[in-house]
Amino acid sequence: MLKLFNTLSRKKETFKPITPGFVTLYTCGPTVYNYAHIGNLRTYLFEDILKRVLLYNSLRVQHVMNITDVGHLTSDADTGEEKMELASRREGKTAWQIADFYAQEFKKDIERLHILPPNVWCKATDHIKEQVALVKQLEAKGYSYVIPADGVYFDTSKFKDYGTMAKLDIEGLKAGARVELSAGKRNPTDFALWKFSPKDQKRQMEWPSPWGTGFPGWHIECSAMSRAHLGDHFDIHCGGIDHIQVHHTNEIAQTEAVTGKKWVNWWMHGEFLILDKGKMSKSAGEFLTLQSVIDRGYDPVVYRYFTLNAQYRSKLNFSWEALDGAKHAWHNLQEKIKEFRSHHTTKESSSSQKHKDAFLDAINDDLNMPVALSVLWAVVKDETLGTHERLHLLEDFDRVFGLGIAEVAAAQAVPLEPHLKALVDERAKARKSRDFTRSDVLRKQLLEHGIIVEDSPDGQVWKRV
Ligand code: AMP
Ligand code: ZN
Repeated sequence: MLKLFNTLSRKKETFKPITPGFVTLYTCGPTVYNYAHIGNLRTYLFEDILKRVLLYNSLRVQHVMNITDVGHLTSDADTGEEKMELASRREGKTAWQIADFYAQEFKKDIERLHILPPNVWCKATDHIKEQVALVKQLEAKGYSYVIPADGVYFDTSKFKDYGTMAKLDIEGLKAGARVELSAGKRNPTDFALWKFSPKDQKRQMEWPSPWGTGFPGWHIECSAMSRAHLGDHFDIHCGGIDHIQVHHTNEIAQTEAVTGKKWVNWWMHGEFLILDKGKMSKSAGEFLTLQSVIDRGYDPVVYRYFTLNAQYRSKLNFSWEALDGAKHAWHNLQEKIKEFRSHHTTKESSSSQKHKDAFLDAINDDLNMPVALSVLWAVVKDETLGTHERLHLLEDFDRVFGLGIAEVAAAQAVPLEPHLKALVDERAKARKSRDFTRSDVLRKQLLEHGIIVEDSPDGQVWKRV
């Protein structure tokens, strides 16, 4: 039984997809005005684990991830600069070049982290028509109003369940914001559906609309795109924990205002990666990218391993020491995998099923990866099982961990253990001195260790069984 925490109820609930056996999943994607930082990547890793757990439970998954390539302002209060235009000025490229470049970099990052790509990538700039249509529907139902020279806004007081998921204190917010309520907004929580281009300035990314030339609000993008690709009712919608209060609250309001019914069954949010100094933030300009981690000598999969040490709803502290710990653990695991692969023994025991059950219990308990990792290590150490059985279990679990255990095992380029290398070298010498009896003994000895030696015209070659 798969249990997943639902932000709507603040409880772990038994997961049941709308269509048996099939899961519809939308994950809020990157805003492509800069590289993703390793905090952002923690969220995508959590979503990848979620997807892999669904697959491990024999569910099919239709996964949609968007690329926010317009409309995200530097302030959640609908003020500040639009991030693509800002980056365009910073880098002296067009906003379109910026979007393409960072979207490609993002895709590279997730590949390096073994994150399974979504079934559908969708870009906000490819869905302007759907976004305008959604704003029109909201207008027709009386949910919107225009602030001249600013934009079209959603009137949150008209949507009775506004802020339910985030448990917003609407009255408190109103009281607190009375003084600084930004010009023209009817309620402090109202948000932009469509922003107008400045009168005296042509933006690089702008489109005509019934209300004036401009660009979509960030929230309407995700509502329109998820609706276009997954429909008016789907299973799971994810993002980082910072999305609960504003982005997802607003997505729910505008979508359910149009459809008049419940939109998403499960909302899931990943906690933040924390730096010693505090929150990692893209807009603050100070952040660590995956490339900067690689440049310091870490395999990207070490970062993946590192994030498995915390359950996704707990904060995770990043430090180089902690990353070294993950590096060390991954190195040890690789050595064990190679050893299991080189020293083939087979021995079954009832503990095999026990490990499988413990693993499934852990991942199905709201993706408890730290416990799942401890099961992995229990398998590594379990001598009631042969190396063959242990490797088989590890490869099975790796459908969720995504570390690349099968690849490590399969790599024929793994150097020989020193004592085997000594035997291989000794056999080469024996052949050279035409001592065929000795070379045959050594061949048999090596075979017992899982090493096959063959004589080729170029000399002796070895490979693992
Ligand atoms: P953005 O590209 O800014 O839209 O953010 C991409 C994703 O990263 C969103 O789901 C955010 O909630 C998430 N996020 C932002 N900062 C962090 C952090 N420090 N740790 C984990 N996730 C984060
Ligand atoms: Zn979103």
